[in-house]
Formats: sequence, structure tokens, C-alpha cells
Amino acid sequence: MSRLNPILAGSAQSTEAYRQAIAQSSEAVAQWLQQPEMYQGKTVAELRERITLDFNPQGLGNQAAIERAIEYFLKDSLAVHHPQCVAHLHCPSLVVSQAAEVLINATNQSMDSWDQSPSATIIEMKLIEWLRTQVGYQPGDAGVFTSGGTQSNLMGLMLARDAFFARQGHSIQQDGLVGNLKKIRVLCSEHAHFSVQKNMALLGLGYQSVTLVKTDRFSRMDLNDLQEKLAQAEANGEQILAIVATAGTTDAGAIDPLRAIAELAAERQIWVHVDAAWGGALLLSEKYRDYLDGLELVDSITLDFHKQFFQTISCGAFLLKEARHYELMRYQAAYLNSEFDEAQGVPNLVSKSLQTTRRFDALKLWMGLEALGQKQYAEIIDHGVTLAQEVAQYVSEQPSLELVMQPQLASVLFRYRTQQLSDAGDTALALFNQKIGDVLLESGRANVGVTEADGVTCLKLTLLNPTVTLEDIKVLLALVEKTAEQIAA
Ligand SMILES: *Cc1c(COP(=O)(O)O)cnc(C)c1O
Repeated sequence: MSRLNPILAGSAQSTEAYRQAIAQSSEAVAQWLQQPEMYQGKTVAELRERITLDFNPQGLGNQAAIERAIEYFLKDSLAVHHPQCVAHLHCPSLVVSQAAEVLINATNQSMDSWDQSPSATIIEMKLIEWLRTQVGYQPGDAGVFTSGGTQSNLMGLMLARDAFFARQGHSIQQDGLVGNLKKIRVLCSEHAHFSVQKNMALLGLGYQSVTLVKTDRFSRMDLNDLQEKLAQAEANGEQILAIVATAGTTDAGAIDPLRAIAELAAERQIWVHVDAAWGGALLLSEKYRDYLDGLELVDSITLDFHKQFFQTISCGAFLLKEARHYELMRYQAAYLNSEFDEAQGVPNLVSKSLQTTRRFDALKLWMGLEALGQKQYAEIIDHGVTLAQEVAQYVSEQPSLELVMQPQLASVLFRYRTQQLSDAGDTALALFNQKIGDVLLESGRANVGVTEADGVTCLKLTLLNPTVTLEDIKVLLALVEKTAEQIAA
């Protein structure tokens, strides 16, 4: 048998092969979705043993390669849409996001230059313009889609760093870091995402540059401590690059007091970046939009659409209040964004991104907005926040469960606690709750988060899934209690 051309193209043979491959894959997904288990429960060792790459001189052909992926990948995947899959900020995806992926993948546009993605470039720019209006920024198109929160935070911190040095007449882009770098600080709360530290290390300033501001009992940045840390920094001759505020901390969903932070920073000409990777979803909320009060004041913003916007991974955005700051990272590449192109007004998004070749992830959000409309999008976002409040109430009524913190977004922090366990001490109580999480995942029945809130080891339910009801969570909590009793016995 002669080898078929493996490339996706317009020939009859290729389009037929494409239809078959996609049909085979999507049929397998449809069947997998009906699997009742959240996870088949194989251990690390079992999967290592089972999964092998079959790369041979002949090749298996598309159909067999797809069959093997179904057998070795799909069947042992985690069902993120399962009502008992609530450990992480990891969402089930919109059906229309799947359709968008088909279009994104088949067209394989690249967002770095207009001649590689003509309509896609315009759609992304219009979507950035629209997102800016949602935030309350001035009209414009400063911003870009990213691979997610980590990259968006990097962009915010990098531009804050470069703007800070530019004010002192120094171009980091041209000349690199100079001066007494040990004196440079970024402030964020104790509960800010770890990508702040990682990114500061990448930017050449190290973990040591990050000063952690204390939080209140709801994990929100404490303004008194912020003022104190600012005064201390000043007294020590330190210079503050940026304050990173969080809108939706990863565990508690806490939203820092954005307006007050922005006002404090403005007095001192300090850049404020808001990490709204999670809480940014409230931009579309009907009931909770006011939680983001003050967002329009800050210099840059991280949004993630692969969290409570229900888009497939990856899909995030970075928004920049003032377009002039993009000059700090401009690079002119003759083959992508030549002066000639720019003089003619050709938009080449490479100058707004850290990436060069880049996926057209914006299409997912665009199609999601159009398909669901304002009302339904608001409903599926608000669902989780409201459900978390109901679950917290229910948890606080159960004798063997203890609510560790009042929910703020869509997560519930709680722990299993009986008198006997309390008597055994804090360490035993912490280990016991950790064990509940481990046993549940091993059984394949539930994925519940285990984390720490103010030194207390607790369980976490992240209630993003809009199809999950209070009844589903009652079933899950009964399973938690039953598992605990089995462990205790
Ligand atoms: C998830 C998250 C991030 C990281 O985003 P990625 O998309 O995973 O890179 C950053 N900050 C917060 C608050 C998050 O919840």
C-alpha cells in the first residue's frame, strides 16, 4: 500500500482523512464523556508501566494512532466536567469552545503578523478593545492574548520594571539591569500567586525582591500593613517597582481592596498590576461585578479565560492601561513588523506579545460571548459564587465539618473535625484531612483540594462547574464523611 500524504490540505484524499480522523476522535470523546467515573484510579506506577511510545519505521497510520490515544490517554484522563472534580481552578469547557478549537487548529493561524492571520488579528484586536471597555479603561487596543496568568503577570511585572527604570533615564531593553538591584522591591500579599516570585526571578531581581504584605482574616491584603511596608521601604532607601494586587486568590478567592491600593500607589507613582486570573470572571457577572471596584484605575491586568470563563486551555489576556508603555518592549523585526508595514497601519501583534508564533485563542472567547450572550454567561459565572455561599452554610450545619473561611468567590475551605480528632492535636488533624483527599483521589471517586489557610490544613472545593448543584455537593460531602469514618476505623 502506498503511503498517503499526511498533510492537511485541499485534496480529496486529505479532506477525507481529516473528516475520518476528527470523526473518530470526537466519537471517542462523546463516549468518554458518558463514563461514570471521575478517574479510573490508576496509580503513577501503573500508568508509567502501561504507557509507551510506539515509534516504528512504518508508522501506524492515523486510525491506529488515534485508537492508541483513546486507550492510553483518553480513558485514563481526569473528567474535569465531573461534579466531584473540584480540586483546582480547572474548568469544564464550553461546547462552543470545542468548536472554536476545531477552527483554530485546522486553520493554524499565527498571531505574530497580520499576513499569517488576517481576520484573526482583527478579531483579537476587537476583543481586546471590548475587554478594555468591560474593565473601564479608555478606548484602545493595548493588550494581547496570552498563554495564561503566569505569562500575563510576567508582562505586567516586566513593563512595571522597565517603566520604573525609564523614569530614571535608563533603558533596560537596551542596556540591561543596572544600579543597586538589591534595593528594588515588589509588594504583593502573602496569598498572591507564586508566579510573582518566579517572574521576579526571571526578571533578574530574584525572590528576594518580593515583599509579602500581611492579609486580613479573609486572605485580603491588609492596607495598614501595606502602608507600613511602604514606609519601611522608604526608610530603608528601597525602591518599589510595583504593587501586585490579587483579584481572586487561588484558594480563598480573596479580592484585595483594589481601589484603596490604586489610590495609595498613585500618590507614590507606583505601578499597580492586578492579577485577576480568577476574579476577572466577575467582569461578566450580574450580581458580583462590584467586587472589582477600582480595577479601571490600575496600570495592567491579568485575565484568564481558562478558569471561570470556561474556555479550553490555553486562553488568557494581558491588558495595559496606557499604550505608550508598550514602547518599552518594542522590537522591530524586518520580516514581521517592518517600519514600512507599521507606517501603513498594518497591525502585527508580535509587538504586543512575549511570544512570536502564537495560537488564535481569542476565537474561543469571541465565540463563547456570541453563543451564550450576556445573560447566560453571567448566569454560569454567578452560579459558582452563589453555590459556594450555599455550600458554606450547609457545611457549617454539619457536626463533623468545620467551615475554615467564609467564601468570597467560588471556593469553600473546610475540614473534617470531630472531638476525638481535635483531642489528638493539630498535626493529627492536618494529616487526617490530607489523608481524606488522598483516599478520595485513589478511589477515583472525587478530586478534592487539600491546602492551607492561615496555617490550617483544610479541604477545598472549587465550584466552577455551572452544572453542579447543592445536591451534588451534599453527595460529595457525605462521601467525605464516609471516607473519614473509614480512615478512622
Ligand atoms: C491560575 C492563576 C495564575 C496562573 O495562571 P496560569 O494560567 O495557570 O498561568 C496566576 N494567578 C492566579 C491568582 C491564579 O489563580
